[in-house]
Amino acid sequence: MAGCGKMVITAAWVAPMDAPIIRQGAVVVADGRIVAVGPARRLLADHGHGACRQDLPEAILLPGLVNPHTHLELSTCTCGDSAPGSFAEWLLSIRQRMREGSQSVADPEQSVRRAVELGIQQCLRFGVTTVGDISQQMHVTRPVLRDSPIRAVSFGEVLGLARLRWRFDELLPRAVDRSMQSSRLRIGLTPHAPYTVDLPGYRQCLRVARRRRLPLATHLAETAEEQQFIEHHSGPLRELWEQIGSWVEPVETFRGGTPVAMAQVIGLLEYPTLLAHVNYCEQSDLELLSRGQASVVYCPRTHRYFGHPPHRWREMLARGINLAVGTDSCASSPDLNIVDDLRLLQQIAPQTPSQALWQLATVRAARALGMHDSIGSLTIGKHADMVAFPVARSDGEDPLGAILRDHRMPTGIWIEGKVPVVAQSRAPGG
Ligand SMILES: [Zn+2]
Repeated sequence: MAGCGKMVITAAWVAPMDAPIIRQGAVVVADGRIVAVGPARRLLADHGHGACRQDLPEAILLPGLVNPHTHLELSTCTCGDSAPGSFAEWLLSIRQRMREGSQSVADPEQSVRRAVELGIQQCLRFGVTTVGDISQQMHVTRPVLRDSPIRAVSFGEVLGLARLRWRFDELLPRAVDRSMQSSRLRIGLTPHAPYTVDLPGYRQCLRVARRRRLPLATHLAETAEEQQFIEHHSGPLRELWEQIGSWVEPVETFRGGTPVAMAQVIGLLEYPTLLAHVNYCEQSDLELLSRGQASVVYCPRTHRYFGHPPHRWREMLARGINLAVGTDSCASSPDLNIVDDLRLLQQIAPQTPSQALWQLATVRAARALGMHDSIGSLTIGKHADMVAFPVARSDGEDPLGAILRDHRMPTGIWIEGKVPVVAQSRAPGG
């Protein structure tokens, strides 16, 4: 919308996500923000004079999609249809692949940069305008995110216990360094998981997040073995530590039950923490989650990849827990197409209203990132981050359901009212 002070976009449908969908709707954008949403006829009468206009007669306009849990630096990884072995074996194989990858190229940082760029390109192609990105190589990934058009929370990842506890201490100040923060890039913190961060480490992260008002995330209850590890330091996750030669006592155990109970005791549920996965969830955990402020991000295709038992996402929604959907990384998901994750949910639960599914990757995902005041719905005052999908007359009254059923791809994307343009760095060796 170069040269446009104000822009009116009309569409066959507008789906604000925090209100019912509008047939023959429009969105008015000025200075990168939404200034009006409603029926096209009225908005053109009120705002049409002197404004630029774009008509999308065969599209539905939605808020830009939000993928609250991914690891862009793993975007050059590929995965098969299902995990080749146990979760611990998969973790080791990723570690190994990252090591080999960094040893085999002349400039390892350039290959990380390239992975993040490819990840961002995928996001934009699939209609994602905001990501919650977990990053170990934040000194490399954050400059790429800052210079890209995508909106992001960069969760700096900290991990290291037992013999590797020094690593946690080394990573923490880097993770919360805000020097790369910009209007579209927010800095967050993520203690990796209960099998890589000890209890004092978690408490320290929560203290730092509270003090600096940082978005906080962690992987939680991702595998069945996690509880065995936190309670007794036994099982496959302990063996993994032995295998890499880094186990040493003492490490504090948690004897109070499940990983969710552990999160509650630490205080993570009294903070708007983003809990990735929660694939293993007892009845008592649902109770704890429903009383807290944390969000759960379920990654359907990654969940299927590891063959976990059915996720309790519908019970979480019914209990008022903020449940959102994410993709996780390309090391456990075929790609970063979050709409395919919604498609999987449509197959699992075909009776779920289409809008409720799309909310998992818009309003609810924005809330999981603590950004619900500025993105996630087509609402006056929010950023004009939007995506358009094709619709057909035969869709009837449920175009949102038809997009999922027919595997349609986005036909338009805007961030702050502008079509994002991705600058590319030189390919390694090229
Ligand atoms: Zn993850």
